[in-house]
Amino acid sequence: MDCKEANKKMSDFLNNELNSRELKGFVEHISHCRDCKEELSIQFLVQEGMARLEDGSTFDLQSGLDGLLEEAERRMIFYRWLHYLIYGVEAFAIIAIITIIVLIIVL
Ligand SMILES: [Zn+2]
Repeated sequence: MDCKEANKKMSDFLNNELNSRELKGFVEHISHCRDCKEELSIQFLVQEGMARLEDGSTFDLQSGLDGLLEEAERRMIFYRWLHYLIYGVEAFAIIAIITIIVLIIVL
């Protein structure tokens, strides 16, 4: 993902609307691109800061954004395990079908 694309996806990221593939590309880009991380901080501040101001709760930008990125990291780990699980189930199903065919042939 390049800076242009990352910039376009920032509001989707903040609204939790990226799919697992987009999320992975986005977080990877943000983790090594200073400019985009700074831009994300600003957008996060505007969006989240305003909401916090309205409900009157205190707000720490840096820990808030770090929390958001950690949350994204956790979600990606979850997606990864979900993929493994799906592959595992598929592999199991294929093995089961082959076993059944072999049994039908042999018996
Ligand atoms: Zn960038």
